[in-house]
Amino acid sequence: MYKAPVEEIAFTLKHVAGMAEAIDDGLLGDLGEDLVEAILAEAGRFATEEIAPLADIGDRQGARLSNGEVKTPDGWRDLYRNWAAGGWNGLTAAEEFGGQALPHMLNVAALEMWNSGSMAFALCPTLTMGAIEALNVHGSAALKEKYLARMVSGEWTGTMNLTEPHAGSDLGVLKARAERREDGSYRIFGQKIFITWGEHDAAENIIHLVLARLPDAPDGTRGISLFLVPKFLVNDDGSLGARNDLHCHSLEHKLGIHGSPTCTMIYGDGKFGGKGAVGWLIGEENKGLACMFTMMNNARLAVGMQGVAICEAATQKAIAYAKERMQGKAPGWSGSGMSPIIQHPDVTRMLLTMKALTQGSRAITYACAHAIDMAHRANERREHWQERAALLTPIAKSFATDAGVDVASLGIQVHGGMGFIEETGAARYLRDARIAPIYEGTNGIQAIDLVTRKLPLSDGNQVKGFIVELKAITEAVRSSNLDSFGATADRLDSALADLEEATSWLLARLAEGRSAEALSGATPFQRLFGLALTGCYLAKGGLARTEDGVGESRIALCRFTAENLLSETAALKDRVVNGADSLAAARTALA
Ligand SMILES: Cc1cc2nc3c(=O)[nH]c(=O)nc-3n(C[C@H](O)[C@H](O)[C@H](O)COP(=O)(O)OP(=O)(O)OC[C@H]3O[C@@H](n4cnc5c(N)ncnc54)[C@H](O)[C@@H]3O)c2cc1C
Repeated sequence: MYKAPVEEIAFTLKHVAGMAEAIDDGLLGDLGEDLVEAILAEAGRFATEEIAPLADIGDRQGARLSNGEVKTPDGWRDLYRNWAAGGWNGLTAAEEFGGQALPHMLNVAALEMWNSGSMAFALCPTLTMGAIEALNVHGSAALKEKYLARMVSGEWTGTMNLTEPHAGSDLGVLKARAERREDGSYRIFGQKIFITWGEHDAAENIIHLVLARLPDAPDGTRGISLFLVPKFLVNDDGSLGARNDLHCHSLEHKLGIHGSPTCTMIYGDGKFGGKGAVGWLIGEENKGLACMFTMMNNARLAVGMQGVAICEAATQKAIAYAKERMQGKAPGWSGSGMSPIIQHPDVTRMLLTMKALTQGSRAITYACAHAIDMAHRANERREHWQERAALLTPIAKSFATDAGVDVASLGIQVHGGMGFIEETGAARYLRDARIAPIYEGTNGIQAIDLVTRKLPLSDGNQVKGFIVELKAITEAVRSSNLDSFGATADRLDSALADLEEATSWLLARLAEGRSAEALSGATPFQRLFGLALTGCYLAKGGLARTEDGVGESRIALCRFTAENLLSETAALKDRVVNGADSLAAARTALA
């Protein structure tokens, strides 16, 4: 059973992601290390003792639709209400609406633990938090007044309605319609698919954020507006009024995250009376996509946390199994009879790879959250931190979610045949993990974003400055003169040289307008960046090792990563700078 790794999480936040400096610099208000540890401990307890025990029933039973009502798995309604009563939904939300205005770093750490407990369950708050942020940044005072406090408290949940059958990655072609009404409201019509937690019985009301197009809107992404469309209309005194003209038509049957209802939503077909679902504009007409991006950026990092969460849970399960399962005799095994499989070098390799990817993904995602916090709280250079967050977001989302799939798959391998059998639970991690590289912008779309929009930030100086910072870690490893780091410094140097060369090559292609060549290598580049960061952040953790008894093992894992995993960066760089021609030429092979 999953046990929240609270100490490891606290270590990464403080010593790798930058929380300790932020506290020392007074940027996190009253938040001190004691309070951080207390919050993490309670979040970890809830994830371990309350969420994780209900994950299996959620997977087996799934969400069920009957007469337009969605029933969550047994126990989940109370679980959600207990979770909301703990105030967890409002960790980062504004204090004026009942939130605690705590840093994002703390929230992503908590999100990691909720998701390790059950990714399907944690999706509900993930979407609500994104909706809260979009409403808080772009909503009118009246809308905020009416909706935010109840969403922050968790009494009402939120959703994100972008996708339509023909409009997935390309939202410019979406067709949902909005019509103006004289009282300033709008009527929404259309179908949305794949809407996470679009209908359920855990909360009193569901606040849908819906993208739709006005009759006179320009074509494409410049003609999309964002609307708030509640399941139940809300009276002026805050009480719930009539049912709005929207409903869940069906639920998807999915590979994983069975407890999370994935809904086809119909707006404005008159099923509940009325002529169109009543909605209110968020932000300005035709500027909806920009508003939705507030929510999506938040959600992208949150999806990255799902990757970290699956990595952690799958690794814990695999290590526990490998210590118990006896097979064969490992080289050097001196015990009588068979050895536990963890002693076999190949199993050790799998488990260490899982652990390295877990810690690397955790460090990258937390560093991204740190950059977001600094963009809001730093005394100076906020624009720099905003760019750093923008640069790290696609890497955090894609590297961590790919790692989630790889690690969950390795977890099954460690279990042997039992991994393929549902009752061990290893298979669920892979089934759940598989969606994360797809939604919130596929990892391929993240790679395009990274290469075409994030590398050019500040004329390429944001990414170049970042690489210089990473080189300082290599130097610190070298000058530490610790034999236990082995060849870490050299391997990090090589990885950063690969990253630098690939970055320069891509920036040059973009400057020449040769985007097809740049995009051919976007995904290998994204992985190269994530791997180099993994190596550097594990080294940073090794350098900051504390006297907690795990310091040496931290360095040992860092050395394993540098000497076993980082050699991949050379091959990835080669694919970036030499792969485009053959890729274009080989299109004929697909004809
Ligand atoms: C379980 C689940 C939950 C979801 N939850 C929500 C939700 O709550 N709200 C919501 O609005 N949506 C949700 N989605 C939808 C999800 O965000 C989309 O599935 C995703 O954005 C991909 O869109 P698509 O499925 O249409 O794939 P497509 O856009 O058809 O993409 C197919 C493939 O083509 C690639 N591709 C597409 N365009 C390009 C391009 N320009 N360049 C390079 N490659 C490209 C993609 O990377 C992908 O590999 C959910 C989906 C699932 C399955």
